[in-house]
Parts: sequence; C-alpha cells; structure tokens
Amino acid sequence: MRDLLNELIEGKITNEQAEDICSEELADTTATVPVHEALGMSNPEWTALAHGAEFQDIANWRAHGWPKQCFICGHSINVEQFGWLAREHDGRMQLRHVVCP
Ligand SMILES: [Zn+2]
Repeated sequence: MRDLLNELIEGKITNEQAEDICSEELADTTATVPVHEALGMSNPEWTALAHGAEFQDIANWRAHGWPKQCFICGHSINVEQFGWLAREHDGRMQLRHVVCP
C-alpha cells in the first residue's frame, strides 16, 4: 500500500509518475484490493480523478482543502456526500453540483 497523493504533496513524485503508477495498479490482475485503496486514495479523491481532475489537483485539495462551493450556484458542496462533479472552470479544476444547469 502506498499513499500516492502524499508522495505528490511531498514532491517525491511528479503528476506524470503518479499516472504511471496508477496505470500499473490498474493493469495488475493479481491485486486483492480496489485500486484507489492500493494507492491510498479516498472515494471522493478517486471520483474526482474519474471526472478528469489531475492527481496534482487532488493532491492540492488534500493539502489545502477542497473547493467548498459550486461554481455555478455558489452554494456549498460536501464532498463526502457526493452529488458533485469535478470540472474545469476559469482555468482550474473546481466542483459543481450534478443538478446545477
Ligand atoms: Zn450548484
């Protein structure tokens, strides 16, 4: 087990290396735990990755806090409760509600 995002936060690996490590895990057919667990990522972190956020974006969120508001309606988002999408807005990865137009 490793902690991929902490390795990024500490500058031990690059975003590109994180992608390679993740690809290797995904290709490992002998794995006994889900890939996100093997990489030390939470469900919200893994979800954001699936939405197109980079490992570095998510590492920054873990280090400095996740976006707390929807970039469309401005209301709060609780990442643990889902119902959000990670999307690029104003040149950076942010969160929006699934239900917002
Ligand atoms: Zn919203």
